[in-house]
Amino acid sequence: MKRNRLPFILLILLGWLLSIGFLGADVNILMMPSKLPKKLPTVKLENRDYVALEEVSKLFHTAARAEYSEYNDQRVSLWLNGQQFIFLLNSPFYSFGEDVFNMSFPFVQDRDDHYIPSHFFLTNLPQHFPASIKLVDGVLQLPTPKDKGVLRIVLDPGHGGHDPGAVGKNKVREKDINLSVSLLLRNMLQKELGVEILMTRSDDTFVSLAGRTKFAMDKKADIFVSIHTNSSTSSSARGIETYYLATRSTTDSRAVEALENGVVELYEGAEARKKYDALDFILSDMSQTEFLEFSNTMATLVQRNMVSGLQGRDRGVKQANFYVLRGAFMPAILVEMGFISNLEEEALLANPQYQERIARTIFEGLKRFKHNYDRVRKIG
Ligand SMILES: [Zn+2]
Repeated sequence: MKRNRLPFILLILLGWLLSIGFLGADVNILMMPSKLPKKLPTVKLENRDYVALEEVSKLFHTAARAEYSEYNDQRVSLWLNGQQFIFLLNSPFYSFGEDVFNMSFPFVQDRDDHYIPSHFFLTNLPQHFPASIKLVDGVLQLPTPKDKGVLRIVLDPGHGGHDPGAVGKNKVREKDINLSVSLLLRNMLQKELGVEILMTRSDDTFVSLAGRTKFAMDKKADIFVSIHTNSSTSSSARGIETYYLATRSTTDSRAVEALENGVVELYEGAEARKKYDALDFILSDMSQTEFLEFSNTMATLVQRNMVSGLQGRDRGVKQANFYVLRGAFMPAILVEMGFISNLEEEALLANPQYQERIARTIFEGLKRFKHNYDRVRKIG
């Protein structure tokens, strides 16, 4: 008789453990309208249920971004349901829209990850989106987030038309090299990655710098890759460098920045320059800097593959305030494939086999980036 009671006693014990919250309770979710069940796993911190930021990012296809403010506190911005939330480390207060809200328990850090109290998902989130997020019988109903993997890439062969870009001693023109490599790269990406490739230009035509990013924005591209060759007054300068946008210029990158931005005054007129400089205010906007970490990762992967595949001098990943990257609200890089001002590299750049190798190494870097990015941005 006594033996039969054991499962019953265990059941009571389990119920009691659950009731005191010892085992924690994951946040149960239904993705609407498909009713696909999902979970946000919780962990116990300070005896409260918390959800790791990494799990939130995965579920919502979103990227969290941490930054330190001038007061030395740490903020983490996160896009949920198309809106930005900013959490403050060790504080229960967060900002949403124009206001500050309280989620009762603090946003915390433990080792490498940040944690949001599960209370926030069950109580605060439905209050912010009463029309689309509901808590029904303890289950959170959420609109299914959009797939944000890399599906569409804009390739941007620098210069073109009446803007030849840099010209080498043997009259090799940057605009031609940029176009050839971009067309080779387009074919590889289309055939081998199955992504949609759009080009800012696919022949020898002129496109303004702002027109290039506007094109990428209008087409809702997922990433933007601008292809260039470098030039220097020093004929011995050589090697490969990859850039992403800087919110401030660094002395290190000023020369190349001046080179690539300078075409505005030459080919779009002095008035255009003023317009571009007025765009500076956008740089303070968080929604653009959201992508800087991804741009950095993409630049690093492309640079690494180019350097090892081409055996070129590694000039590193750099940041510069390029006009052509400014309006891109997406991960964006600018590749400088080599120096057209260096006789040896000019010959290499003009060589069709070498162009094929350049395209291949950029392709490998983009392929790796897509793999990483898709994993972060899609449901696991
Ligand atoms: Zn250029």
